[in-house]
Amino acid sequence: MTVTDSPAGSPLEVLERVFGYDAFRGDQAEIIDTVVGGGDALVLMPTGGGKSLCYQVPSLVREGTGVVISPLIALMQDQVDALDALGVRAGFLNSTQTTDERRAVERAYVAGELDLLYLAPERLAVAETLRLLDAGRIALFAIDEAHCVSAWGHDFRPDYLNLTVLGQRWPGVPRVALTATATRETAEEIVHRLGLAEARQFVASFDRPNIEYRIVAKDNPRQQLLDLLRSEHAGDAGIVYCLSRKSVEETAAHLSKHGIPALPYHAGLPAQQRAEHQSRFLREPSLVMVATIAFGMGIDKPDVRFVAHLDLPKSVEGYYQETGRAGRDGLPATAWLAYGLADVVQQRRMINTSDGDAAHRRRLGAHLDAMLALCETVQCRRVQLLAYFGQQGEPCGNCDTCTAPPQTWDGTIAAQKLLSAVVRLAQRRQRYGAGHVVDILLGNATARVVELDHTSLTVFGVGTELSAGEWRGVVRQLLAQGLLAVGADGYGTLELTEASTVVLRGEREVHLRTEPKRTTRSRNERRA
Ligand code: ADP
Ligand code: ZN
Repeated sequence: MTVTDSPAGSPLEVLERVFGYDAFRGDQAEIIDTVVGGGDALVLMPTGGGKSLCYQVPSLVREGTGVVISPLIALMQDQVDALDALGVRAGFLNSTQTTDERRAVERAYVAGELDLLYLAPERLAVAETLRLLDAGRIALFAIDEAHCVSAWGHDFRPDYLNLTVLGQRWPGVPRVALTATATRETAEEIVHRLGLAEARQFVASFDRPNIEYRIVAKDNPRQQLLDLLRSEHAGDAGIVYCLSRKSVEETAAHLSKHGIPALPYHAGLPAQQRAEHQSRFLREPSLVMVATIAFGMGIDKPDVRFVAHLDLPKSVEGYYQETGRAGRDGLPATAWLAYGLADVVQQRRMINTSDGDAAHRRRLGAHLDAMLALCETVQCRRVQLLAYFGQQGEPCGNCDTCTAPPQTWDGTIAAQKLLSAVVRLAQRRQRYGAGHVVDILLGNATARVVELDHTSLTVFGVGTELSAGEWRGVVRQLLAQGLLAVGADGYGTLELTEASTVVLRGEREVHLRTEPKRTTRSRNERRA
């Protein structure tokens, strides 16, 4: 007997009978009551919080079919199979199907034989789909990954703009929009673009207490990664994110060579290989997936023990979403990021040379600034992260700044020396990258320094109190604090900002983080 042959019963009865759970979590019960009662809802809940039940249960309780809009085409088959196994009648419509397969799903929908129908957003641009939906009975609309409607967000999908049709064409059908990544701006944009002003908003805590956040200075990243995996995550499943496809492949090969089973995943690999790597990752208990951010959305693997970033994420939202794939089972997990000066320079360059208008570039710049502020913070990472999502928290005791509070030092004079060097070069109508400027400060008479007559600059050799590595740390932090900028020329040259002049005039102090020496701890130490 399937669910709808019997009166479905109350949400709690459905939860027990169909899903085999005995209680709702967090806001689930209230969200479900809202939607069952015909109201709209906006649900902001972190990954693993249990968003799916918020529309699956109401779809079973209400008469008709719950229509779920999801961009995760590659996962629709899995989702439908999982529901099938529970005796829930589900189908999907997307571009990967044959005409016959599509027809069969359409027939089942019109005949009222589906509890849930998953739709790719681009389907809604087709008049035929709208007529099809009219021919059946819609219990509710669920808009999954709702942040994709936001141009401000980091994962904009133009197809999501089609979703305004839902409220306009079917005003009586309740809508529930769900996302795991929403700043206040994104939430406001979802409300605005989807016409959800009347929707009740449910904002769960974004804290993931079992995830330990650590951000370290990048030195020899592959070795640092290897140290981390060997000392703390031997035999664990995890994800390593890299920016480029090339570095994905090289890093996967590097780990494999050193005895850590690892597979690459990026959009340039054949679809079949991607699918195979993904399914091996889901099945096997101790595989490391080395991937670009093309990997991970909607991946439900509870025992991912670490997420490591070898390159700086472009935004805090992206960082939060990617690290959120660790520890969905609630057990301790590590979010580890190595970042360095080159990351900042490279990302500024990418922003400066990106397509799109000035407003778009400003937005990307603001995203990067927030990410850098998280990297350079001297307060609890979790407090800073939650504050970004408009939530408050107490110092957590489970992040690197809590367990090994960073020392700060008065870097005002160092900053003035560095900025003066940039000024002196600018007076000669010259601009150079960090490496050359640091050579000048250290008094390194390299061939280039000599050839350019930079030994005659008054700042030549004035900075021998710091090492080259420490100077690079100063540059990185000044960039992060907006006291220095990377030029738009694409060569990573340094230039002043308005705020730099305040430092040069001695009207502002500069506090810098002391770089911690150790980046990983041994397993025993952690357990102690
Ligand atoms: P999200 O979509 O928010 O990332 P999911 O809907 O995939 O989260 O849920 C995460 C996990 O928690 C799933 O394995 C799900 O079955 C489980 N879960 C959700 N709600 C409950 C509940 N009320 N009781 C027990 N397990 C739940
Ligand atoms: Zn903390």
